[in-house]
Amino acid sequence: PYEVLIVGGGPAGAAAAIYAARKGIRTGIVAERFGGQTLDTLAIENFVSVMETEGPKFAAALEAHVRAYAVDVNVGQQVQAVVPAPQPGAHATVKLANGAELKGRTVILATGARWRNVNVPGEQEYKTRGVAYCPHCDGPLFKGKKVAVIGGGNSGVEAAIDLAGVVEHVTLIEFLDQLKADAVLVDKLKSLPNVTIHTNAQTTEITGDGQKVNGLRYKDRVSGAEHHVELAGVFVQIGLVPNTEFLKGTLELSRFGEIVIDPKCATSVPGIFAAGDVTTVPYKQIIIATGEGAKAALSAFDYLIRTPAE
Ligand code: FAD
Repeated sequence: PYEVLIVGGGPAGAAAAIYAARKGIRTGIVAERFGGQTLDTLAIENFVSVMETEGPKFAAALEAHVRAYAVDVNVGQQVQAVVPAPQPGAHATVKLANGAELKGRTVILATGARWRNVNVPGEQEYKTRGVAYCPHCDGPLFKGKKVAVIGGGNSGVEAAIDLAGVVEHVTLIEFLDQLKADAVLVDKLKSLPNVTIHTNAQTTEITGDGQKVNGLRYKDRVSGAEHHVELAGVFVQIGLVPNTEFLKGTLELSRFGEIVIDPKCATSVPGIFAAGDVTTVPYKQIIIATGEGAKAALSAFDYLIRTPAE
């Protein structure tokens, strides 16, 4: 059994593993894919102190850093359930899809999240070639160009406001008859000169020239008319889904399905901690996930030294 068992091998899980191993405690990590979302990222330009890198390169560096320590690394394993310890100080059980069980006196959940797709032709084909999901990350790539944002909830409207300050023009596409974002955000968006808003608009295709995105097709749901807008980029902002399906009923989740944590990354279950995109922590970014992973490991260590083993 482990003293710290980490579920997830993205930036949060990797940071937690390094911090735990450096305390000299028995540390294990189990993950489907080492690197998490960074494996799907082209350029990373906002991880402070690294001017520019590529996602897969960053993921490989994460794994090498973890493997430099005495950490048991189990990759290619899917966790299907977590059973909390029967009493504080006893072991929680982590159940894998292959039937195996791992035990940890503390568990750190760092299973991340995934962006919801619009599922229209062109989205998969042009991912990272004009189709983007993170305005903080990819906004500057479209400086001086025209982009669209799909989604008129808080994240879509925030993205459109943010992008309007960077790009030439933003078209916001909302499926419903009105924007669902907070009124103060909608007012701010409407005050911007370089933003066009289309409501009742159903995206039907993201178009491209074979190399990169060149526009978006949408249907006016009232008139039925089809329109095409010429663009260099499309930001899909219809939700970030936390990977917590396997945790329903185990610990407290927010209404968005995120693991509810306190400022020390403790969850509602003693001995179980959580870090990164899977949690209620605001702003889903690599630098934040790594900081949270470090914090969760230090909290797990603190729990271990205060809780007698059962
Ligand atoms: P993740 O990276 O999502 O890692 C989750 C880990 O958990 C993975 O190892 C996964 O395999 C594992 N896992 C999930 N479920 C299970 C399970 N049931 N059993 C076992 N393992 C499981 N952020 C930036 O700061 N800068 C950028 O430029 C940037 N660009 C991005 C571009 C794209 C296309 C995307 C999708 C995201 C981008 N982000 C960027 C966001 C950044 O990647 C995330 O904030 C960060 O990866 C979150 O780290 P995490 O460790 O919390 O989760």
